[in-house]
Amino acid sequence: MPDGKLSEIVRRVWGYDALRPFQSSAMECIMAGRDSLVVLPTGGGKSLCYQAPALARDGMAVVVSPLISLMKDQVDSLRAVGAGAACINSSLTARERRETHEAIQSGAVKLLYVAPERAVKPDFIAYLKKRPISFIAIDEAHCISQWGHDFRPEYRALESLREAFPEVAFHAYTATATPHVRQDICAALKLRDPEIMVASADRPNLIYAAERRTNELAQVMEVVERRRGESGVIYCITRKKVEELAAALTDRGHKALPYHAGMSPEERQRNQEAFSREGAELIVATVAFGMGIDKPDVRYVIHTGMPKTIEHYQQESGRAGRDGLEAECLLLYSGSDFNLWNFLLKDLDSEAMRIAQAKLHDMYNYCTAVACRHRVLMEYFGEKIDKPNCGACDLCLGNADLVKDALVVAQKILSCAARLGPVAGPSYTTLILQGAREHRVVEKGHDQLSTFGILAEHDGRTIRNWIEQLASQGYLEKTGEYNILQVTARGRQVLRGEETPRLLAPAETARAPRRASAAAAKSWDGVDKKLFERLRALRREIAQENGGPAFAVFGDAALRDMARKKPKNEVEFLQVSGVGERKCADYAARFLPVIREFAGAGAGRAPKSKQGRGGRIQAEAFRLFAAGCDLDETADHLMVTARRAAKYLREYIEEKGLTDPTPWMDPGLADDISIAADELGFAARDDILERLGGAAPGELVDVVIACMKNEEKPGAPVEKR
Ligand code: ADP
Ligand code: ZN
Repeated sequence: MPDGKLSEIVRRVWGYDALRPFQSSAMECIMAGRDSLVVLPTGGGKSLCYQAPALARDGMAVVVSPLISLMKDQVDSLRAVGAGAACINSSLTARERRETHEAIQSGAVKLLYVAPERAVKPDFIAYLKKRPISFIAIDEAHCISQWGHDFRPEYRALESLREAFPEVAFHAYTATATPHVRQDICAALKLRDPEIMVASADRPNLIYAAERRTNELAQVMEVVERRRGESGVIYCITRKKVEELAAALTDRGHKALPYHAGMSPEERQRNQEAFSREGAELIVATVAFGMGIDKPDVRYVIHTGMPKTIEHYQQESGRAGRDGLEAECLLLYSGSDFNLWNFLLKDLDSEAMRIAQAKLHDMYNYCTAVACRHRVLMEYFGEKIDKPNCGACDLCLGNADLVKDALVVAQKILSCAARLGPVAGPSYTTLILQGAREHRVVEKGHDQLSTFGILAEHDGRTIRNWIEQLASQGYLEKTGEYNILQVTARGRQVLRGEETPRLLAPAETARAPRRASAAAAKSWDGVDKKLFERLRALRREIAQENGGPAFAVFGDAALRDMARKKPKNEVEFLQVSGVGERKCADYAARFLPVIREFAGAGAGRAPKSKQGRGGRIQAEAFRLFAAGCDLDETADHLMVTARRAAKYLREYIEEKGLTDPTPWMDPGLADDISIAADELGFAARDDILERLGGAAPGELVDVVIACMKNEEKPGAPVEKR
């Protein structure tokens, strides 16, 4: 942790006990007022980098963010942990606008989110100028670059914000790492001697897999069933496909909603919200679904068709596991996807087409490569991965079934290609290997080749796939418009038996049970899965009550840690990673009883306490009151708010029938309250508070009234505390 104050804030407010790599140094830059650019992949934890320092520093931080939906999510999450955050955008009503302004005036807003259009308006700049601005953070900073995947012209104008605030430090954040984009960001924002921090773009928590599409619905169902109840996104290329698949999944008992550009904005909004509140587990979508969604606990992303570039795939699959927990990305592909995209490229001019085709080939190679998926992806982006086994892809995990005698099979294919000479493409070569006595084969005399029919026991599709796999591993080369096959130098090594390629077994063979990644095993280590499910249901219930996203209640990481630690009281609840003070105060009473009930189930559980929820902490509070601890001491001991301690005291007084509150509170104040209550009546709580003019909180009024009520009870037991 960079400094005591920050670590204290991160622990108290967010309930995290450690910072992730890069977060410390990124935070230090803000504390030191040095311009910075932080490149951290999705899920790396960029937000905390500026949110925690914003709370630690005097004044208000301004955060420029590109989309209203993203802003709202961030502000919701910040408010849920009790941090003062607000956003100003066109969706606010006049009243909300006024309230926001007042909160800013009072200094309660530590983070103000704005869209770039607004941030550069002269009257808004003038407004900011009158306030103490701690620093300016530019989120999704790649939007400033035409080289990024998401260029937004409004971001360009941010230069004027920089000019308006020469004395304020600027901090830019993005997940897009290319050097070109990086340079653009620094130049466009006129960052001064910025500290540039670039983390690996790899997302080790994502488990990548690619399978040839053989039975789409069955392949999709395998994942959906295995991850029943978890949040997933399924991408389809066409709207029709979206509708069909959503219907098929719904038929099979899954809550799947469609999302595509052909639906009305209201419908889309409704489905997106249902997904984020976990009223639906699945969204089946075209790529129109994306930027607006920030759901951190998407546990899987399935592509039912191949995207046209690796950049697209990286971005879409990257929506899984934003919370850093393990998540799964399955890509179903087929050669027809390649042909379709290739066909669609025909309209481009020749240079653009050349680039697009190269990208398409790279994408297809990713699919057919029989090599670590993380490595292939990172190499594409110019980064080396040294790990021999990533432990998080189908190939490294051994989840892809490999052909056992791959050397022999490969030798048969390569020698056939060599015999044929550079005259045949993959399809024709497949015919020969299969031993198909087609007219053109016989005519050319190829049925006389020694390699004719040497793979006759396999079907054409399987052979064809093997050819693709050999090509993507560099043993065969496809040349010219007709993809004429030629054996490469490496291919000849295989023929000599010096190297063994990897070939995937035909998809139809029964597959071995899937192995989970190490990340998955670790994040589930010690977690009671049944309890976790129960807590997720509770979270869903609360999200629906609050009308907000589920992740604003708790993330999956926090729920798993709860289901691991099984906290019994608020002190233990606060030990859960992701439970800060505010969430403890808001939700301990909802979660603890469920956890306790679960832990106690079958273990000769005591009957439920009369007061209902809050049972065990309440019992501890009662013990402390009986031992003479006052309200503050009790609150400190239990690590609960003074307000909650007062609530327990009222319950204690009610249960014991006590009539004197003074052992636990200031006698003068108790007198004032009881005089007001006498005059105005017990029911007139608000009037009593009004009369006291802010001298006492409502909870203490309740405590005193509880005593007075006991006094009025005929024959009330007078018990010593
Ligand atoms: P990014 O913006 O880089 O995609 P986020 O800021 O959304 O990432 O953070 C990703 C997830 O990681 C969030 O769920 C967040 O609560 C969690 N997180 C961030 N920092 C920490 C930390 N130090 N300890 C535990 N969880 C963290
Ligand atoms: Zn791997």
